[in-house]
Amino acid sequence: MTEIRTIHTLLVANRGEIARRIFRTAHAMGIRTVAIYSDADADMPFVREADRAYRIGPAPSAESYLKIDAILEIAKRSNADAIHPGYGFLAENAAFARAVGEAGLIFVGPTPEAIDAMGLKREAKATVSAAGVPVVPGYDGADQSRLVEEAKKIGYPLLLKASAGGGGKGMKRVDAESELEAAIASAKRESKQAFGNDVLLVEKYVENPRHVEIQIFGDAHGNVIHLNERECSIQRRHQKVLEESPSVALDAALREAMGDAAVQVARSIGYRNAGTVEFILGSDGSFYFLEVNTRLQVEHPVTEMVTGLDLVREQIRVAEGHPLSIAQSEVRQIGAALEARIYAEDPDQGFLPQSGTLLDWHVEDELRVDSGVESGSEIGIHYDPMLAKLITHGEDREEATRKMIRALRSLSIQGIRNNREFLIRVLEHPAYRRGEIDTHFLQRHPVEAEPADPTTGAILAALWQHEQRSAKRAVLPQVPSGFRNNPRRGQDVRFVLDESTVEVVYTHDGRDPGRFDVDVQRGDAATTHRVRVLESSGPWIVAVVDDARVRARVLEHGDDTYVHLPGEGISFAFRVEPRFPDASAAIPTGGCVAPMPGRVVQLQAQEGDRVTAGQVLLVMEAMKMEHTVTAPHDGTVRQMAVAEGDQVEADALLAVVDADGDDC
Ligand code: ADP
Ligand code: ADP
Ligand code: MG
Repeated sequence: MTEIRTIHTLLVANRGEIARRIFRTAHAMGIRTVAIYSDADADMPFVREADRAYRIGPAPSAESYLKIDAILEIAKRSNADAIHPGYGFLAENAAFARAVGEAGLIFVGPTPEAIDAMGLKREAKATVSAAGVPVVPGYDGADQSRLVEEAKKIGYPLLLKASAGGGGKGMKRVDAESELEAAIASAKRESKQAFGNDVLLVEKYVENPRHVEIQIFGDAHGNVIHLNERECSIQRRHQKVLEESPSVALDAALREAMGDAAVQVARSIGYRNAGTVEFILGSDGSFYFLEVNTRLQVEHPVTEMVTGLDLVREQIRVAEGHPLSIAQSEVRQIGAALEARIYAEDPDQGFLPQSGTLLDWHVEDELRVDSGVESGSEIGIHYDPMLAKLITHGEDREEATRKMIRALRSLSIQGIRNNREFLIRVLEHPAYRRGEIDTHFLQRHPVEAEPADPTTGAILAALWQHEQRSAKRAVLPQVPSGFRNNPRRGQDVRFVLDESTVEVVYTHDGRDPGRFDVDVQRGDAATTHRVRVLESSGPWIVAVVDDARVRARVLEHGDDTYVHLPGEGISFAFRVEPRFPDASAAIPTGGCVAPMPGRVVQLQAQEGDRVTAGQVLLVMEAMKMEHTVTAPHDGTVRQMAVAEGDQVEADALLAVVDADGDDC
């Protein structure tokens, strides 16, 4: 008999969205919660939502969320009897799980032995392969000096993977032998930086596979079940952005075969608690083991929606020593569920992570939103740029997809570039709708944005501002206003959108206060509109523009006016005047600037060097990813403005390359 150890107080050794998610279930189970937070997170929602919260240290994870001793110290001070690691950070760190156990606390997760067995991809592949589960062909031996030679045997394309890797980091596709050595060096650096371990493995690159994973669950009573699949093929940078269940690629027989293989993997290591066995699935139905994620997965809500289970509750119960609440035969698969990850990243710039202030975060539809942020949150450079996840459920895939598109259209995110519109374009793609997806979907179908017509947005922004001023004048009649109460003379507002100008001239209809005649000038195009403002309160304005009733959410910040049209699903960031003098004007010809704030990890060229266009000048590291900065053209390096180890701001000048033929 396994003894039952009831959890009274749970410390979550994590942050953001997943900390909130765990608190929600813990509170519903009557469990007290404890948060830890870094200086960067003191104002984040998860800190307020915990019953107690303790500062753990400065912003960098190494000095805060990764400090095992400090976490255990807080657990002791707060009388916690259990620790949930969330995902990322220490979630798959066996030493942490062990230290938690040795401190007499319950680790809500698998045993340290299971984490160890699956923690390194290299060893994990060997273990599951011995248990008869198919793995991707490649080199997973211990001898790192053989990487080059083994790679040559495997052939191209191949994939270098950090053995300790996760989240797509430290992974490099190599297409030709000439790229191999540089790719190995880069993957090792990235892996060392992110995981403190630079062991790599080499795999044959499987062309156009699907990523299909099986949720597993084990308890201390020897029960192991699987909770069916999630398909996570829509990825960028080997990282998931959309996940769904069921997968259109699985029939009952394949589901059973993959489920059985996953359970076999779990049994071979005596797995307890929640875990995920990841596979890639070829178009011929052959599947290969990738890795086991020995933790709760980011996309676990998808499984919760189709099975009706609360996986965090199940984790807590199992950690207390209870048997699993259901048997394999009782696992349900109800309808279809879809998750979309909202990232602070710019899809137009290779999904470059973004930092800044989230000025607006507002979801309208009733749906499950697992979010770590709120309006006003600072999105820093220290942690993962995922802001939130939206989860929808429907009778079938089409319904879940439709609901997701609607929710994404209604979502207002302002102040920080993000992938909201990108996700809508993916979900609207006919190939996506037909279920024709694999991990290269985004390379094959680059879903590029067509610039949206800003006319309605500009009209509503201008009239919203007008209504705001009118409201202010009504309260404080002496407040001077740019508004001239002269029905004959038009009020003129100029918005700058990217490089172009949208000019809105509106004239009040003298008799009817809500009515306006509006002229919009955009480049050479001029249009005229009849508008009736029905309502304006807080950030909202509702108006009939020509013959359609539309609604907008408007926000002013400094010189910027942000407009979101939930019905149209589009947003605009208008600027009244260019806020800063053009930053590019200050950059010399041939200058390379930092794409984002970060640290210079390696210089690969020196002043005076001859370089060719596209040649790597230096490597930066930001948000746990490496970014290379390359020469803009053939020429000579005139200046290296930074040194290895330098911390630089976005747009900081890094290097200058004089083009051949320039005599400056
Ligand atoms: P995988 O790609 O291995 O299936 P997930 O997509 O579930 O794993 O998550 C990838 C990894 O990215 C996690 O292990 C974690 O390290 C990191 N990660 C993603 N989102 C966050 C977040 N919001 N907070 C902390 N870490 C995160
Ligand atoms: P991580 O730990 O970063 O999640 P995984 O091994 O789980 O690393 O792989 C992440 C993703 O990379 C997979 O979902 C898949 O898209 C891709 N991938 C991994 N291995 C291969 C391979 N051998 N061939 C092709 N794609 C692969
Ligand atoms: Mg993975």
